[in-house]
Amino acid sequence: MEKKWVYLYNELAQAEAYVGGKWDDVRGLLGGKGANLFEMYRIGLPVPPFFTVTTEACNAYLASGSKFPEGMWDQMIEALKGVEEKAGKKFGDPDNPLLVSCRSGAKFSMPGMMDTVLNIGLNDKTAAGMVKLTGNERFVYDSYRRLIQMFGAVVLGMPDEAFEDVLEDFKKEKGAKADTDLTADQLKELVVKYKAVVRKHMGYDFPQDPVEQMRLASEAVFKSWNGKRAIDYRRATNIPDTLGTAVNIVTMVFGNMGWDSGTGVAFTRNPSTGENILYGDYLLNAQGEDVVAGIRNTKAIATMGEDLPEAAKQFVEITKILEKHYRNMQDVEFTIEKGKLWMLQTRDGKRTARAEIKIAVDMVNEGLISKEMAVKRVTPAQVDAMLHPQYDEKALKEARAGGRLYAKGVNASPGAAVGQIYFDADTAEKMAKEQKQQVIMVRPFTKPDDVHGMLASKGILTSEGGATSHAAVVARQFGVPCVVGASSIRIDLDKREATAGDMTIKEGDWISIDGGTGEVFTGKIPLTVPDLEEQKDLLTLLNWADEISRLQVWANADYPKDARRARSYGAKGIGLCRTEHMFFEQERLPIVQRMILAESHEERKAALDELLPSQRSDFDGLFEAMDGLPVIIRLIDPPLHEFMPDEEKLFEDVISMRVKGEVEGLSEKEKLLASIRSMHESNPMMGLRGVRLSIYMPEIVEMQVRAIFEAAADCAKRGITVKPEVMIPLTCTIKELEWIQPRLEAIAKKVMEEKGVTFSYKFGTMIEIPRAAVTAGEIAKLAEFFSFGTNDLTQMTYGYSRDDAERNFLVKYVEEGILAKNPFQTIDREGVGRLMHMAVEEGRKTRPELEVGICGEHGGDPESIEFCHLVGNNYVSCSPFRVPVARLAAAHAALTHGK
Ligand code: ADP
Ligand code: MG
Ligand code: MG
Repeated sequence: MEKKWVYLYNELAQAEAYVGGKWDDVRGLLGGKGANLFEMYRIGLPVPPFFTVTTEACNAYLASGSKFPEGMWDQMIEALKGVEEKAGKKFGDPDNPLLVSCRSGAKFSMPGMMDTVLNIGLNDKTAAGMVKLTGNERFVYDSYRRLIQMFGAVVLGMPDEAFEDVLEDFKKEKGAKADTDLTADQLKELVVKYKAVVRKHMGYDFPQDPVEQMRLASEAVFKSWNGKRAIDYRRATNIPDTLGTAVNIVTMVFGNMGWDSGTGVAFTRNPSTGENILYGDYLLNAQGEDVVAGIRNTKAIATMGEDLPEAAKQFVEITKILEKHYRNMQDVEFTIEKGKLWMLQTRDGKRTARAEIKIAVDMVNEGLISKEMAVKRVTPAQVDAMLHPQYDEKALKEARAGGRLYAKGVNASPGAAVGQIYFDADTAEKMAKEQKQQVIMVRPFTKPDDVHGMLASKGILTSEGGATSHAAVVARQFGVPCVVGASSIRIDLDKREATAGDMTIKEGDWISIDGGTGEVFTGKIPLTVPDLEEQKDLLTLLNWADEISRLQVWANADYPKDARRARSYGAKGIGLCRTEHMFFEQERLPIVQRMILAESHEERKAALDELLPSQRSDFDGLFEAMDGLPVIIRLIDPPLHEFMPDEEKLFEDVISMRVKGEVEGLSEKEKLLASIRSMHESNPMMGLRGVRLSIYMPEIVEMQVRAIFEAAADCAKRGITVKPEVMIPLTCTIKELEWIQPRLEAIAKKVMEEKGVTFSYKFGTMIEIPRAAVTAGEIAKLAEFFSFGTNDLTQMTYGYSRDDAERNFLVKYVEEGILAKNPFQTIDREGVGRLMHMAVEEGRKTRPELEVGICGEHGGDPESIEFCHLVGNNYVSCSPFRVPVARLAAAHAALTHGK
């Protein structure tokens, strides 16, 4: 049998059978737009008769160097007959002409990327026939002139201006303000002018044969897959080049048949806030693209009931059916022809992170989707976006009071942005990339050619267009803050300035835009991080995520205030408290230095005794903040020289003192310099640090363990539930633990005795040296928990020093494909990951209840979190700000791989 390239509106079952039943593959074959047209037809919604040419046909066409594949054209002609029958009209028949649109549609929607031609089938004869049929000459010639213009621009590749200029002059000549002011006769005249424009530009006539029109338009759709705009968009969104686009030939329905007709686009919920109310625009007496193009002022969908009550009511019902069917917020296009509603498109609506989360939570509460589905639908990046900066309240008030509110437009994509303005995409991109500026792109409106500039910008501001304009749609998709339709702004592209009221801003000036409120301010307004506790929907969603996950999320926190933030963000423990930060504090550092330089055990003890109370109070605050939850405290890790003054600087001081003959304090400085020099190591990160330092100089960790247990005991007495876990860093052999751990445990027991309280505690180790991972079975004999320090583990497994690698060769390695990714950002599963896997397995053989976590930066990376789930970690620990993202990622891992 001949290959099927074309599917008629009622042949969805055949397409499903061909691809093997999966909806995703149906979309791949018929394109997203096509597949949903079939689906809407199947569930009984009013869709004009149509047929779809597959993406396979497109790929075959492009592969063959612009030849329709064998049989495709005949199948199109055949399908056209099916459409004619259903529509009760005939293509090219002057007595009862069928008109169609030719629409592109790839698997993933690419807004505005590919072009659509409406009113195909009109020519001088069918136009005359339609006038007879409808008695509406104005409508017919309006449609005809639209066809010539669109066909010219899209299919013949003529510049838009060729027609726009003629139209502008013509309107002026006739004294018409809007297109709708033009009379039937005038439009008829315009058609003649437009045909002349085609002839002048192309050297041949606008094709009168409807079949030829359809053929050329279909070819243009195929070709547009490889247009520059489409390719740029695919690069930016990681859509594969191999998908191809389908062609949809759809019976025309007319929104421009008079004031009982119209056309519109709508989201079934607000795509910016997620609120459950219809959101969109419509226009009476207009054809499709008028709404999106922003040429005429659209009306809000809420008022449609006043103009077209019956159709409006039916439309509301259909949006409900669609949401139930797709279990998702939909973005729809519709047309009303003489009061009759037609659905022309539906797809899952693009939305902001905030809307995604609200819609997911609402749909669970409405019984439309399950909690699992809600959690799955939200991406880690969206959760991240929710914690993005917003304006500092106080600064915002001041800006307002100071008269810096410059303009107000439509709040198209939320988030605050501060940057310098540029008036075209190329300059915006250049300033952002080459000059590293924070850029806000300002345009009257945007087009697909502007996307590169929009992506490089921190924010987008337009003076025209509405919530469904190109700028708004693209900005929402990429999470760029955006204000559109700030109509008080007059942009002068020649002078490179924009004026609103009496304020003029010039290229390079700073402005602040708020895509959540639509406000635009002159100058900079500082940004702050939002409070998670106020984001009820996100909290609800994350609580559902926790129910789903097996992995817990803990946080890395050194101070009580970090611990409190971590806890409010949902952390279930502290996975890493770095004690050395406490040594760096201004009033403590001199004592620490004295301790390090001590020449006798007594001297060292004395200094440490001075440090003890402050360490104790650090830990006290931490235990209090984490009441009831585990707190892992890591004993001192870095090499001692980090606490000492800079050697070079000190050397300079000494030299200059000698030269100037200053004697006071010179000998102390010389002594200090000598000590620092004696501590010098050629590779300190692999030198005297971690557990090695503890064994070399045990007094420090003995003091630390005392401080930990004294604080824990004091807290326990106050009624706080403490779960201290002492972590020994950089272990490489069990012998090290055998040496140090019993001494420390003895101190722990002693303190509890002194204080007269007992509580449970753990001693464990970091696994960050390959040897430790390999001998984990041994190490687990003493260690009650493991925590993977994946930064060091990655460095030592690869033999890379991270800083040097990232500065020098890592980028090249990734570019050349030697490394798939930066292994310091995402765990290298084959190498480092293999060691982790081995350590968990061996460790749990020795100690089945072994607690395993990760405290490196990888703990906040979704892909690495998934791996930790697979390896069998109990928790991941990350910075407090990453905790919400990690909670979601942990749930995703459980949803994908099972608990
Ligand atoms: P895009 O992907 O850019 O939205 P579409 O193929 O959806 O392109 O078409 C552009 C505009 O033309 C839309 O507003 C759409 O509703 C309208 N349109 C497309 N086909 C028809 C048709 N057969 N009858 C009436 N309007 C149509
Ligand atoms: Mg569309
Ligand atoms: Mg380390």
